Amino acid sequence: MEPQTVVLKHGEADRVIAGHPWIYQGAIRKLTGNPADGAVVIVKDHRSRFIGTGFYNSKSKIAVRVLAHEQVEINETFFEQRIRQALDVRKRHMPNATSFRIVNAESDFLSGLIVDKYEDVLVIQISALGMELRKSQIITVLQKLFAPRAIIERSDVASRRFEGLDPVEGVLTGELAGPVRANINGLIFETDLLKGQKTGLYLDQQVNYAHVAGLVSKLPQPNVLDCFSFVGGFGLHCARAGAAHVHMLDQSADAVAASLHNAAVNGLADKCSAEAVNVFDWLSTHAKTRPHEKLVPKFDLIVLDPPPFTRNRAAVPNALRGYKEIHVRALKLLRQGGVVVTFCCSHHVDARTFKDVILSAAWDCRKILRQIAAYTQSPDHPVIPMIPETEYLKGYAFELVR
Ligand code: SAH
Repeated sequence: MEPQTVVLKHGEADRVIAGHPWIYQGAIRKLTGNPADGAVVIVKDHRSRFIGTGFYNSKSKIAVRVLAHEQVEINETFFEQRIRQALDVRKRHMPNATSFRIVNAESDFLSGLIVDKYEDVLVIQISALGMELRKSQIITVLQKLFAPRAIIERSDVASRRFEGLDPVEGVLTGELAGPVRANINGLIFETDLLKGQKTGLYLDQQVNYAHVAGLVSKLPQPNVLDCFSFVGGFGLHCARAGAAHVHMLDQSADAVAASLHNAAVNGLADKCSAEAVNVFDWLSTHAKTRPHEKLVPKFDLIVLDPPPFTRNRAAVPNALRGYKEIHVRALKLLRQGGVVVTFCCSHHVDARTFKDVILSAAWDCRKILRQIAAYTQSPDHPVIPMIPETEYLKGYAFELVR
């Protein structure tokens, strides 16, 4: 049989050789062997030199997802090696974590596959046809390596449509009744992996929770405000680290209920309160003053961890206005010497742009900030600089000088 080959146009091989796994339809000069969607193909440069092995899909804008720079068989052995390598990264950089992301797609050279571990339960998310067709091999490997109580599928991401796939979710192996108790830095977060607005927790903040807890322990019994608190990730870490009180804000009533439940589960209920509100409105109301009234700031530490606000590039200017607005208001509510911890998880806003927004907010309210930390995503969401899409989370901690 003629090998199934994708030959690239002149100049298109460089970024693949550099490590980027995506090959767009427009980069292809010709196909040989008439590959089926989801099939494994050999990728060659314009002079027919071998450059990699990947999945082909004519329905997707990403025509090929490169999996290896060698000629390899994509089988159970391949998946086992890749997943073991990914696990080694986590063991090295997050040795004490028991709930974490095992496989983060492109970050682990498995484009289209995400695997999260919540203690003894695994959650997989597949967003590429090539992976979908090999789901049973992947599951066999996961069972061999982790012997999980259950494997859940949450392939409900919109991006599946671009691959010609419908959303699917459910229990793939084992049984799951009720929520899972995930241990994050020694705190328990109960999470319903089958229902709920999002799969589980924001595991990408795990390392940052611990760092922010460290900031809390340096302040004398601080009063903390956790904005966009979801199920209380930052809030509960702050409460345990010695905050006098933590107030959490999220627009989702379910998330707010879960954050209060988690506070109780961890014996922190007496220090925590939460409200289901729009953060913009809440900050605006609390930062407002009547004529001649002076605002008395009440918080020593404020966390801002909003959703991306940017589905695409066109949404960036509005998102930046939104980011600036919450920073202006938050800075007005922060006591002198207090700390604002702020994150941006949008791909489309880089660290410099994000910092500029914060500085322009500070300028507007005549505040001076001292940067005391810069953050990125936890190491179970590895950044591969050659694949810019793998880097998305950035954050800073600033002390309010005056
Ligand atoms: N800090 C959280 C993750 C936050 S994700 C953690 O570490 O787990 C963003 C959260 O913002 C979501 O829970 C979402 O419900 C909430 N959200 C989005 N827009 C909001 C708004 N305008 N006001 C309040 N909450 C909002």
